[in-house]
Parts: sequence; C-alpha cells; structure tokens
Amino acid sequence: MRHVPRKRFGQNFLVDPQIVTDIVRAIHPSKDDLLVEIGPGLGALTRPLLQFLRCLHVVEIDRDIVERLRGAFSQDTLVIYTGDALEFDFSTLGNDLRVVGNLPYNISTPLLFHLSQFAKGVRDMHFLLQKEVVARMVAAPSNSNYGRLSVMLQCRFEMEQLFIVPPESFCPAPKVESAVVRMIPRRQPLIAADREKLFSAIVSAAFAQRRKTLRNTLRDHLKPEDYQRLEIDPGQRAENLSVAQFVAIAEHLSK
Ligand code: SAM
Repeated sequence: MRHVPRKRFGQNFLVDPQIVTDIVRAIHPSKDDLLVEIGPGLGALTRPLLQFLRCLHVVEIDRDIVERLRGAFSQDTLVIYTGDALEFDFSTLGNDLRVVGNLPYNISTPLLFHLSQFAKGVRDMHFLLQKEVVARMVAAPSNSNYGRLSVMLQCRFEMEQLFIVPPESFCPAPKVESAVVRMIPRRQPLIAADREKLFSAIVSAAFAQRRKTLRNTLRDHLKPEDYQRLEIDPGQRAENLSVAQFVAIAEHLSK
C-alpha cells in the first residue's frame, strides 16, 4: 500500500535520482564507516548508501515507516532505532560517527542543537535542509542571517553549503528551496567545554532582541569596564560581533 506522507513528521521524500546520487557522492561512504541516517523514510538515501556500506544505522520516528523498512532490508545491514532523533543519544553508536539525513524541516533547528552536543565523537555530518536554515548556519557577522544558530554551530563546526536542491526534487514538493550542507567538527572547539553554558547564555541574551545594543541586551552580564577590557563597543548589536568576540566575552567572565 502507498504511504501517505505525514506533514507532522516533515515527510518530503526525495524523488530525484540525480540529487540522490549527488548527495551520496558528497558523503563518499566507504565500507566500514559508522554511519547513521536520521529519518530514512522510504529509503531514498538508505538504499544507495547501503550499496557502499557493511551496515547502516537509522533513527526513524514513524512506526509505519519502520514496519516497511523492516520488510525491505535485512536487519544485519540496517539497524533501526524507532523513536525521536531529538531524544536519541548519538554517543551510544560509537566514535568517528558520520551523520546524514534529509532532515524533517519542522525540527531541523532543535535537531542541529541536539546533534552539536555529540560533536566530539563525530567525523562529519551531511544534511539536506531548508536553504534559509543553511544560510543562517553559515552566515558571517553583519549579515541579516547571522544569529544564535550561526554562532552556536560555528564555534564547534566548520560548515560549507554544497549545492541547492529545488522543490521539484521532493514529493510532496515543499514551498521553498533546500540545500545540502557539510559540517565538520573543529578539532579544537572555539569554546572550552566548561564554558559552554555561559557562552550559550550570553549568545542567547545578545540575540534575544537583535535590534537592541549590547549595552541593553547584556546588561546582566557586562559592566562598562568589561567592554573596555574586551575592546568591544557596547553600542553595537549582537549581529556585529564575531564568534571569536562572543568567545572572548565568555572567557573574560569565567576568569
Ligand atoms: N530520507 C527520506 C528521503 O530523503 O526521502 C525521508 C526524508 S523526510 C524529509 C524526513 C524523515 O524523518 C521522515 O521519514 C520522517 O518520518 C522522519 N522524522 C520526522 N521527525 C523525526 C524525528 N523527530 N526523529 C526521527 N525521524 C523523524
């Protein structure tokens, strides 16, 4: 029986074989890679990936889809975890993990935050996402797309937009364009693990009201003399600060 795509699970299935080939080529899987796919759906990426791999792990929330996958693939080659990727502990799969997925758009931002916790054990990640989300991920300071997502991800990952995917490549077709992004964890994250909480609080406060100046948004964190020490103008907005300047603020406050 035909599977009717479920909107609540962000089900826009890839139907363009050329795009599938381009994504698999970008991932460049090899036999013994430890690879996990988030949201395998009907297997558009799963099937071609398995041609290169000994085994593939997948996390899928839709039980009907899981049933189909169990019928279509051997459990020796496809290891299925039924559940919410937002709650999945990716560190249980092992180290040097490769993460891939045509991500459900409705949860892509929280999923990226969830996954960034596991950066240490990850080799790389390749995702197909809404183009606007990728623009926010890779944005530089003073760009209107630069915000909390850019800073929080860029401090842990090097990121690159690889190519654009048009709406017609999916069924049902989404309203917007998509893009494939590659994320590689930095060997040395820009922020030390014990300062991450403070860093995150500062970045969130600074961008909570992005039209306001730092003097306003960070008044609970920084005094006038702190700005002098840090050589940061308190009259600027969060969108003008580099990732390195946010790091410098967190380090200054942790001393
Ligand atoms: N990979 C398939 C493809 O490219 O055609 C399907 C991609 S579709 C955009 C997103 C997939 O993620 C669906 O299979 C959906 O059921 C699954 N999904 C949605 N929310 C999820 C969640 N929270 N955890 C795990 N999988 C989820």
